[in-house]
Amino acid sequence: MRLPRKLPSLRCVIEAVGLTKRYGEKVAVDGLSFEVQPGIVTGFLGPNGAGKSTTMRMLLGLDRPTAGSASINGRPYERLRAPLCEVGALLEARAIHTGRSARNHLLALAATHGIGRRRVDEVLDLVGLTQVAGKRVGGFSLGMGQRLGIASALLGDPHTLILDEPVNGLDPEGILWIRTLLRSLAAEGRTIFVSSHLMSEMSLTASHLIVVGQGRLIADASMSEFTASAGRTVVRVRTDEAPRLRDLLAADGVSVTSTERDLLTVSGLSSAEIGKVAAEARIALVELTPQQASLEEAFMELTRDAVEFGTPMEEAAL
Ligand code: ADP
Repeated sequence: MRLPRKLPSLRCVIEAVGLTKRYGEKVAVDGLSFEVQPGIVTGFLGPNGAGKSTTMRMLLGLDRPTAGSASINGRPYERLRAPLCEVGALLEARAIHTGRSARNHLLALAATHGIGRRRVDEVLDLVGLTQVAGKRVGGFSLGMGQRLGIASALLGDPHTLILDEPVNGLDPEGILWIRTLLRSLAAEGRTIFVSSHLMSEMSLTASHLIVVGQGRLIADASMSEFTASAGRTVVRVRTDEAPRLRDLLAADGVSVTSTERDLLTVSGLSSAEIGKVAAEARIALVELTPQQASLEEAFMELTRDAVEFGTPMEEAAL
């Protein structure tokens, strides 16, 4: 899985400063500032419509910011000398000549940068498309198309990769493959910036997170910081006197839900505090269990007010 070429010693950083994009009245990206560091996978996370693709397009010089700026290793994308060799990109909407074979598509792209045939075969092998390299791209499944997109991104052996929802359309084996690939590319010192609306996927792939909602920055933290700060504790309480205890626990900042007659799920109070209230009211508890809220729940809570379209988190359960 390792790429054969040597990386330049360059430590490449992606930087956004006050990046803003308006489409008429709509503010798609609202004053975003962040840095993406080399050597790790950085996840760009947010519900659908949060502004991830627009941000990535601005990083790649495909959309002009209304305000602010974006740079890769200190330069805007359009001022890079050999972009394919510096930044590899996979965007959601790919335009590929469907009549061409995968190999010819890559050869045409390679020719624009003086990249040889051998590198084309290397990347075809790397993404597992060697067997179908002669087939027309028009007949490719979504997953095969994603693999070809990733092959194009890797063609110039770039030190920076910007990938928009790369696991879309991939089967579980493909998802595992891309996770391993991205981690190994990062371990080689590359800068990897990858978007997703799935917290569960990001928690397995990224070690740093930039979270956006409605175009604004919600969090910029390491995965462990995010887990620690966002994962609030809930307590499961089982008692025959659930309704009475529920009334006694009610207070500002406390939420109590119930899915079974004798079960309460409490957030906003510790198990010790709940135990004390129950003891004072002489309510016998059958169970009192603190539980860490899942990352998925934490992400949902964090971006709850920022969800624009439907319920993207339902897909997270797939
Ligand atoms: P994400 O990638 O997080 O799903 P997008 O960047 O695609 O979000 O979209 C952010 C917001 O900007 C959405 O409300 C979307 O409808 C809007 N938007 C994106 N591109 C355009 C465009 N070309 N014209 C008008 N609105 C757009």
